[in-house]
Order: sequence, then C-alpha cells, then structure tokens
Amino acid sequence: MPPKSIPSVSEVRRFRRRLLAWFRRHGRDLPWRRTRDPYRVLVSEFMLQQTQVARVEEFYPRFLARFPSLEALAAARPGRVREAWEGLGYYRRAANLQRLARTLLAGETGTIPRDVDGLRQLPGVGRYTAGAVASFAYEQATPCVDTNVARVLRRAFHPRLGLRARDQQRLWETAALLLPRTGKSAWAFNQGIMELGALVCTARIARCGMCPVRGECRTGRRTA
Ligand code: SF4
Repeated sequence: MPPKSIPSVSEVRRFRRRLLAWFRRHGRDLPWRRTRDPYRVLVSEFMLQQTQVARVEEFYPRFLARFPSLEALAAARPGRVREAWEGLGYYRRAANLQRLARTLLAGETGTIPRDVDGLRQLPGVGRYTAGAVASFAYEQATPCVDTNVARVLRRAFHPRLGLRARDQQRLWETAALLLPRTGKSAWAFNQGIMELGALVCTARIARCGMCPVRGECRTGRRTA
C-alpha cells in the first residue's frame, strides 16, 4: 500500500475524470486558452504572474496588437514596451520578456523552445512558466504548479505539508502523478486544476460543497 498522502491509482483516475468533466463545463473562455501560439502563451504567462485574470484580459489583446510577434517585441524600443505594460505593474516582467525575445532571435533557431529545460534557460522563466508554456503551447504532458495548483494539491493530498523546498518538490511529484499522459488531456488537466484553484478551492475559501473532486480530497472529505 502507498503511504496515505500519495493518491492511489483509483483516486488518480477519479480525480482526473472529475476534474476534466468539471473543466469542460465550467472553465472560463479566456483568450490565451484559444491559442497554442507559443509567443501568445508566453506573453499571457508573463502577464499572469502576480496579476489578476480580469486585468490581464484587458491588457493582453492591446499588447499583442502592438507587438504581434517575437520579432516585433525584440525590435521595439524598451520605452514602448514599458508603456504597453503600464497598468500591469512589475515592469521587470516586461523587460524580461523583451530580453527573452532578443535572446531567442540572436540564437540559432529564433524560436521558443518546446522543452522545459530549454525554456528554463530563458530570462524570467522559472519552473512553473517553463511547464506552462510546454503544456499550454506545445501540449506536452508536463506538470505546472502555480500557487492555485499548489493550494489544491496541498488541501487534496498533503494537508500537513509545510513550505520547505522538499515540500514543494512533493507537490510537483503529485502533480506529475495526476497528469494524464496524452498532451491534449494534460493541457486540459493543467488548465482545469488551475481553474479549480481560482474559482472553487480559493485562498480565501474552499467551496467544498460545489467541488468536483471532493470525494478524492483529504480536506474536503473531513468537511462532508
Ligand atoms: S474538496 Fe474543498 S479543499 Fe478539497 S479541493 Fe475541493 S474545494 Fe479544495
């Protein structure tokens, strides 16, 4: 028998199935979910770091209209990029995004890498963003654990886990275990678990009564 905090095979299957069904019905139609263009996905991920979805929805199309490609962004004056970012805050993200575009275009392929290791070499791209771009743009079956996902996994499978680096590593391992093996389903799973953390299992309140994975959740079962 696996230790109690590791989901069993049947729990994994149920968690996946219920989450995917819920996401199909309740997932929001967000502009970056309608594309697999790696540049557009990358821009959305940079914007979403520390910024509310509603705010990003407002700025995202405007930014892309001004800088529709990696080339356009790389060639722009930094002042113009900063101007387009105004209102989103944390300008370092805009500077990193442009640095990233310039780095890529100075390289051999001039394209956004498909693999997590290649993505992680880029300015401003950490473990989460690399996983998100690999999954959301290239439909690779790779986990991506942001704060919303970490909260869901912690409440569902590891309610006693702390905040140490090895605890974080544990969450990534559980995310990998839960992830479907095919890219399209992994895309939907990653989007779905993020959405669950944003809409149902939020930092402020866990709405267990309306949660699709309550039956598989250590915290939710206790409150049933
Ligand atoms: S059952 Fe409750 S605690 Fe568990 S994932 Fe759902 S909302 Fe979060």
